[in-house]
Parts: sequence; structure tokens; C-alpha cells
Amino acid sequence: MSGRVVAGPRILLVEDNEAIRHAFSILLEETGYEVALAANGGDALDTARREQPDLILMDLGLPDLNGLEVTRRLKADDATRGIVVVAITGRALESDGEACLAAGCAGYLPKPVDAAHLLRKIPEFLGNRE
Ligand code: MN
Repeated sequence: MSGRVVAGPRILLVEDNEAIRHAFSILLEETGYEVALAANGGDALDTARREQPDLILMDLGLPDLNGLEVTRRLKADDATRGIVVVAITGRALESDGEACLAAGCAGYLPKPVDAAHLLRKIPEFLGNRE
């Protein structure tokens, strides 16, 4: 019974809106995920390399880099390309979805994100891990 507790999958939540970041970090932690947070694209890149999360929830509207640009950089880097990235998009137009997939996202969820829907989708996306 000694040793490290086996933790749940690790999720990096990238979201510049503090209220949303806070609410979803609590939701994810209460569900059993280990959560890391980033509030901008540069921090997301650094944290992804350092923490090696299983999945990234990527807001697209960030103060420095667009979330799609962050995703392209993650997918261009051997150290981070295997991480599943799911875009959180404020615009649910089909063209935006195609842009998400073209950037390397495994999928996308429209804002406002429904909590129950998010919790159903995460295990599906984790199953997409390379
Ligand atoms: Mn945003």
C-alpha cells in the first residue's frame, strides 16, 4: 500500500478567461483528472513540454498566439506531437472545425462548453492517443 498513488489522465487546460479556467479545472479535478493550467499560448507550449499531459483542451482565442498556431507548434515538435489536442472554439462554423483538424486537433467543442458533454467526450479523445 506504499508508493505513488496512480493518478488519472493528465489534462492541460488552456484558457485565458479566468472564470472559465477556474470552473473547468474544478470540474476536471473532481472527475479524477490531474489538471495543469495555462492562460496563454506561450505558457501552453512550455507547460505541454514540461508536463507531457495526455490531452490538451485548447481555447482558440488567446491573448498572444491563436490556439491553432499553438497546436501547429505542438504538432511540429517531437516532444509534444503525440499529445491529443481538442480545440474549444467560440465559432462553431464548419470551416472553423476544418481549420482545427487541419492544425492537428483531434476534434473540437463549441463554446459555451456543456460540462456533461465535455466529460463524455474526454474519454473518447483519450482513446485517440497515438
Ligand atoms: Mn479565450
